[in-house]
Amino acid sequence: MSNYIAIDIGGTQTRAALFAPQSSTPILTQRISTQKESETPLERLLGLIASIWEQSQPVLAIGVAAASPVDPYRGIVIDAPNIPGWVNLPLRQYIEDRFHVPVALGNDANLAALAEWKFGSGKGHRNMIYITVSTGIGGGVILDNQLLLGERGMAGELGHITVLPDGPLCGCGQRGHLEAVASGPSIARWVELELGQGIPSILKAGHSLTAKEVASAASQGDALAKAAFQRAGTFLGRTFADYLHIFNPTAIIVGGGVSRAGPLIFDPIRAAMQSSVMSPQFLDNLTLTTAALGDEVGLMGALALAQNLIEK
Ligand SMILES: [Zn+2]
Repeated sequence: MSNYIAIDIGGTQTRAALFAPQSSTPILTQRISTQKESETPLERLLGLIASIWEQSQPVLAIGVAAASPVDPYRGIVIDAPNIPGWVNLPLRQYIEDRFHVPVALGNDANLAALAEWKFGSGKGHRNMIYITVSTGIGGGVILDNQLLLGERGMAGELGHITVLPDGPLCGCGQRGHLEAVASGPSIARWVELELGQGIPSILKAGHSLTAKEVASAASQGDALAKAAFQRAGTFLGRTFADYLHIFNPTAIIVGGGVSRAGPLIFDPIRAAMQSSVMSPQFLDNLTLTTAALGDEVGLMGALALAQNLIEK
């Protein structure tokens, strides 16, 4: 039987899995650290694919998700900040030259959107937004059953929308982006600043907090912690209304650690979205929900890419 190989390359760990056609349950999975002194990251990656290849032939196609900007048309890793030397790396070519099967490459946040649409909470939606709110904010857009890529494959940067001009510095270097006010670290940072101003809370000033700690304090009724999620959720909800106006989706799927705060974040999101839409029609049949796929979302996106190469 012919199979697919899916790869998810992170800065620290790379995962690989083998899937039978029409199946989203892996036959086997393997995990290695992305970098090791004795080998280049590319050698390690090719070795990982080879070890799976030996256990399954023939392979129909290989899909690769990378946690960095990529050019999906040319199969190039543009710049992987956590992997030394991976700048303008023609990764697709390297893998195709070695294994002689079609290879497709995508950015992990975009591919997470593809995975949720094909296998998760977005199933059956022609038009869908996926946004992950964790250390950063990323995502992807499915329009008319297609992943929106843009001219160079850079579309779908849903976290880099200016929501607070001259606001806090964003991970991308600009100020006041959604990511800089609503990501996990941004929520924690805001609480730290408020504590520094003497705002009372069960959280203690003077050490760096996490969004998880803030969520836990909020669940114990802490007013400052609740206000932090209210604030982040309001920024998110207003921006979601913007997404509705631009893309008119029937689903907004929220993944990432912050989405696990439940009503604490979803209540203000829903309220701000409802009060910010230009017309209630945008909310008709709209599903706002959490992502269905967990850690394996990148692998599942890579699988969807590989399947697209063959099953179109
Ligand atoms: Zn930004």
